[in-house]
Order: sequence, then C-alpha cells, then structure tokens
Amino acid sequence: MCPSDDRAAPPASAELPAGGRHDLRRDRSPDAPETDSFGEGAFGYIHSYETGSRLDGPGVRVTIFVSGCPLRCLYCHNPDTWHLKDGTRVPLERVVSRLKDFAPALRAMQGGLTISGGEPLVQVPFTQGIFVAAKSMGLHTALDTCGLLGERASDAYLESVDLVLLDIKSWDPATYRRVTGQEVAPTLRFAERLAAMNKPVWVRFVLVPGLTDDPANVEGVATFVAPMPNVEWVEVLPFHQLGAFKWKELGLDYQLADTPPASPDLVARVLSQFRDAGCQVR
Ligand code: SF4
Repeated sequence: MCPSDDRAAPPASAELPAGGRHDLRRDRSPDAPETDSFGEGAFGYIHSYETGSRLDGPGVRVTIFVSGCPLRCLYCHNPDTWHLKDGTRVPLERVVSRLKDFAPALRAMQGGLTISGGEPLVQVPFTQGIFVAAKSMGLHTALDTCGLLGERASDAYLESVDLVLLDIKSWDPATYRRVTGQEVAPTLRFAERLAAMNKPVWVRFVLVPGLTDDPANVEGVATFVAPMPNVEWVEVLPFHQLGAFKWKELGLDYQLADTPPASPDLVARVLSQFRDAGCQVR
C-alpha cells in the first residue's frame, strides 16, 4: 500500500466524535465519497453523538448524528452533516462497543438510542447495523428521518426500529420544494407505509415564519396525519437561528438570516390547527 493509501485509510480505532449537534465539523474525512447512498456496513461517517438527550424519543437517550443528507433545508441548523466528508469515519464495531458502555444506564432510564443526522437512510447498512446491535442490548430505538429515502428502509430494517421521528417539512409541494430542494411525495408515501404497518411515529414540523406557516400548509399536514393511529405525537419545532454560524463558516448562502423566531402567538395558532384536526401535539 502506498503512503497516500495509508493516509486515506483511518485507523481502525477511530474514536466516536463526542460533542453535540451544534458543534461545527468540517473535512474530517476528505477522501469520503460524495454520494447519497453509502453502501458499507463495516464503517460509516458520523458527525457527533450526544448522551443524555431528552429531545429525540422517550426517556434519556444516546443520539448519534450521522453524516450525509440529500436535502438542503433553508433552515438546516447542521449543514455540516450534508456531506460524508465532513464526518468522522468510524468502524461499526467501535460504535457498538461504545453503545454497550451506555446500555445499562439507558435501560434503567427507560431511554434508548436515536440515530439522527443528516439523514440516516443515506447509510442504510451502517445505521441498520447499529440498530440491530442496540436491539440485541434491549434498547429502545428511534430513527429520525425526513422520509425522502424511506423506500430504502426494508421491512427488516424497520423491524429494528421501535419509533420513527418523521420530519414532514411541509404539505404544499411548492413550499416543500422551496424549503428542501426535494419533492414531498416520497415522504408522504413513507408515512402511509408506516401507518399501514402500525409503526409508532412522532411527526415533526418545523415552523418558520414566512416560509412554512401558511395556514393551508399546516392544515394539509394536520389533516394528513390526524387519521393515522400510529402517529403518537406531532411536535411543532419553532425555527431558531442556532445554526446560522455554520452557514457562514461553510461559506453557504443563508437565506433566513433575517427571519425572526416563531412568535408565541404563531406557535399557539399552529398547535391549535393540529389539535383541532385531532392530533396530539406538543
Ligand atoms: S433534512 Fe435535516 S440535515 Fe438534511 S438539510 Fe434538512 S434539516 Fe438539514
């Protein structure tokens, strides 16, 4: 193996990048492919992980943020997860071994493991390997996904997932396209598939003033998910500016620099729209 190949191959003991979702990561793995379908299972690319999260599923959780995402949400607060190359290449066995350290505490606190991103379905074999290992440890598992790549999650994949946190970023196709750069239909099809298999789902809707807050747009999401008995919660996430610095650091064009946070009145209106449609909201 030539010296340049040695440099391209990271040590097998690569550490999991502890930290959090708000830490900026850049060029950790410059030789990673530019792809939205990474087929290796023995290793993968991770942005960071957090312990003690209470935001990403029931109980206290370890949340792993994997790299790679085919969307380009205007409000993304982690644009440093879009490309595999910005994450750290980590062997699956290292992730599993680290998870084992946390498993007793997670079980005791009725928590579990959540894989978020980025988009976890960019790295299907890798994230499936983590979920399967977590289930073998008796952990509750949650997949945080935008649903665009839902067709990639086989029934076997979903058997290792107890809960799907499904981000439905808009109802109106033109708004969805403007917000994400992608089409809404695959996400809606995935939601219907999850409903048909009665897989527990928490729907997440990011409320951005002037972008996703149109009453008809909210109403569309609400009336779509309200009849689904597998949807346990709808979580309305008010837009914030915490990720703005990353757009600047990465030299990206951040179009929401002047967008204010959602006001309490706006949040209340949107929550009542979901509630009036018959959804459990928070
Ligand atoms: S799906 Fe998530 S990670 Fe991907 S661009 Fe949107 S907000 Fe960012």
